[in-house]
Amino acid sequence: MNRLIFLLCLIACSHSKVFAHQASATYVANEAVLIVNGNQKVLFDPFFHRDFGTYQLVPKETRQAIFDARPPFDNLDAIVISHAHDDHFSAEDVLKYLLKHSKTKLVAPQQAVNAIRLLNGAKAIESQLVSVNLVFDQPPQTLKVADLLIEAVRIPHAGWPARAEVENIVFRVTLKEQDNQVTVMHLGDADPDDEHYIKYKDHWHKRISNTAFPPYWFYLSAEGNDILSDILNVKQSVGIHVPTQVPNSLKSSGKDYFSRPGEKRIIKNSHEH
Ligand SMILES: [Zn+2]
Ligand SMILES: [Zn+2]
Repeated sequence: MNRLIFLLCLIACSHSKVFAHQASATYVANEAVLIVNGNQKVLFDPFFHRDFGTYQLVPKETRQAIFDARPPFDNLDAIVISHAHDDHFSAEDVLKYLLKHSKTKLVAPQQAVNAIRLLNGAKAIESQLVSVNLVFDQPPQTLKVADLLIEAVRIPHAGWPARAEVENIVFRVTLKEQDNQVTVMHLGDADPDDEHYIKYKDHWHKRISNTAFPPYWFYLSAEGNDILSDILNVKQSVGIHVPTQVPNSLKSSGKDYFSRPGEKRIIKNSHEH
């Protein structure tokens, strides 16, 4: 009898423990996503002002909550920028944020960091800036920032070979908190042509990404879907950059995507099913 109670408790306790440590992704807008694993927090592409009349802007209250570091946006370890386009990045806002929150690091392509450095007051946040300097075809880069393992590879922007000059970075970020480790992949506005990805086969094989966040157009082509299922070594994916008027082709694709600010997904680690 005692043994049974002990066993039941063991099952219940281990379950609550798993639950307490589960990592999550919360949709902010467009390609802005908050990743939380215990005390570790990373926020992708949070500040921008351009919606092209099509995409989701960050709701005013959410934007204020980020600047005020209100939960869940408190104690951000890093802000990560995929590329310096106006629907992903505002140099002024990032500077304003970093001036207010000196413990947060910025990880961003050189183009974005350069734009910040041109602004008045940027000297004060120099130690918070981590720039990723990758040219086309260069091997991936690995960084350790605030206990995060960050792996970066430059993948051309959608529309290739147009916009080849845009430093679009596919980031893989590993958050390790006590016994729970998860890896996420943010693709920015990556181009869904498998040639860009096959050449980095070793990079994708090196680590499983528990959840990837591809731009939704990956789901609309056979090639995009193949890249996700056969090349990138990802367990689960959630589409981002979804127009506020969700395309019917996406709705009927059966794929998962974020379209409403505040939506959340659990990020399962490699031991969960
Ligand atoms: Zn872009
Ligand atoms: Zn974009």
